[in-house]
Amino acid sequence: MSRNLELFERGKQVIPGGVNSPVRAFGQVGGTPRFVKRAEGAFFWDADDRQYLDYVGSWGPAILGHAHPDVVKAVQEAATDGLSFGAPTEGEVEIAEEICRLLPSVEQVRLVSSGTEATMSAIRLARGFTGRDLIVKFEGCYHGHSDSLLVKAGSGLLTFGNPSSGGVPADCTRHTMVLQYNDVQQLADTFKDLGDKIACVILEPIAGNMNLIQPSAEFVQALRSLTEQHGAVLIYDEVMTGFRVALECAQGLHGITPDLTTLGKVVGGGMPLAAFGGRADIMAKIAPLGNVYQAGTLSGNPLSVAAGLATLRLIQQPGFHATLGARTARLAQGLAETARKAGVVLSSDSVGGMFGFYFSEQVPTSYAEATRCDIERFKRFFHAMLEEGIYLAPSAYEAGFVSIAHDDALIERTLEAAARAFARIA
Ligand code: PMP
Repeated sequence: MSRNLELFERGKQVIPGGVNSPVRAFGQVGGTPRFVKRAEGAFFWDADDRQYLDYVGSWGPAILGHAHPDVVKAVQEAATDGLSFGAPTEGEVEIAEEICRLLPSVEQVRLVSSGTEATMSAIRLARGFTGRDLIVKFEGCYHGHSDSLLVKAGSGLLTFGNPSSGGVPADCTRHTMVLQYNDVQQLADTFKDLGDKIACVILEPIAGNMNLIQPSAEFVQALRSLTEQHGAVLIYDEVMTGFRVALECAQGLHGITPDLTTLGKVVGGGMPLAAFGGRADIMAKIAPLGNVYQAGTLSGNPLSVAAGLATLRLIQQPGFHATLGARTARLAQGLAETARKAGVVLSSDSVGGMFGFYFSEQVPTSYAEATRCDIERFKRFFHAMLEEGIYLAPSAYEAGFVSIAHDDALIERTLEAAARAFARIA
């Protein structure tokens, strides 16, 4: 029996579904999850010692590839000096300075341990700052699993969300409106009706949780101007896009200055670290300065900070994002070309080190369009690639991630494997 299967069966006895985060269970694609034994650069090895070229990269953090020696060394050195203190450290000041320097919209920043905490805290802060309750999010954008964000769109014209998870009281989502990504008219109408009640709008400025979906320039401009006009806080959730799509993040690419930004993934270099920050007048509302409470035993953990700082330094090397972006674009374009040659309908897109491919004629622009692609084809392609030793996200609705360790030769190797996989599923 495969050791992966053995571990999965054992895990299921003591861990719900055998995994500590649902997508890892291969629920959408079926089959046995690969249990990772170790990882290095662009590769990981599973419990059967089989090697995979990894396009998940811990769902975003591994922008340098796995186990980059400088990052590992930074963590080892930090560990020698103690694991957690519950008192401030120099590293926290340094990483906060670095984040503020890299993101002009962020005047002050607070460190937390997960993206979920970052967005939950940013929303509480926006509500505390504005004294308003309503929040606006977009269908298909994921911002972690805090109660008020686990909402699905209401049916028909109802924009007030219903809980998308058991255990979330309808009361908790009563103040959350769910609008359609890229729908400028709906956004404008909503602000016209309820603008003075909206505390904040939160969005994935380049969505990666409904496959990769980019906003139109009109949409991001409307978001900025409407929130500004109505005194609502604009929150760019850059947990996924932060330092991955560009050094200046999605906000830099869009030329938009959000009021608050959330970060995670890359900023922690693979360790549990996330952050929220932005305008100093808003951040001043957070305890201990203000009355909006937020705290954490492991916030600003020294090992996480060390990994984050080492990562932020390395990604600032000249040409880093240009190289990463060019390789990712080659992969995305190559996938579409290879599919076409095999007679498979496929479109693709990429921004910086993030990519999407869609079993549909056109690149989708909304959740409704993203969920219209051919899921059965995706599943067969996923497994065909897995057999080729290429590990893609085990879900059709997740973006893919490329690291700087994915060199040109590895991208070409992936495209050769894809040609064989497309031929098999055509
Ligand atoms: N926001 C976005 C945009 C994300 O992609 C994610 C996680 N994929 C989160 C928030 C939540 O982050 P975490 O899983 O670290 O809680």
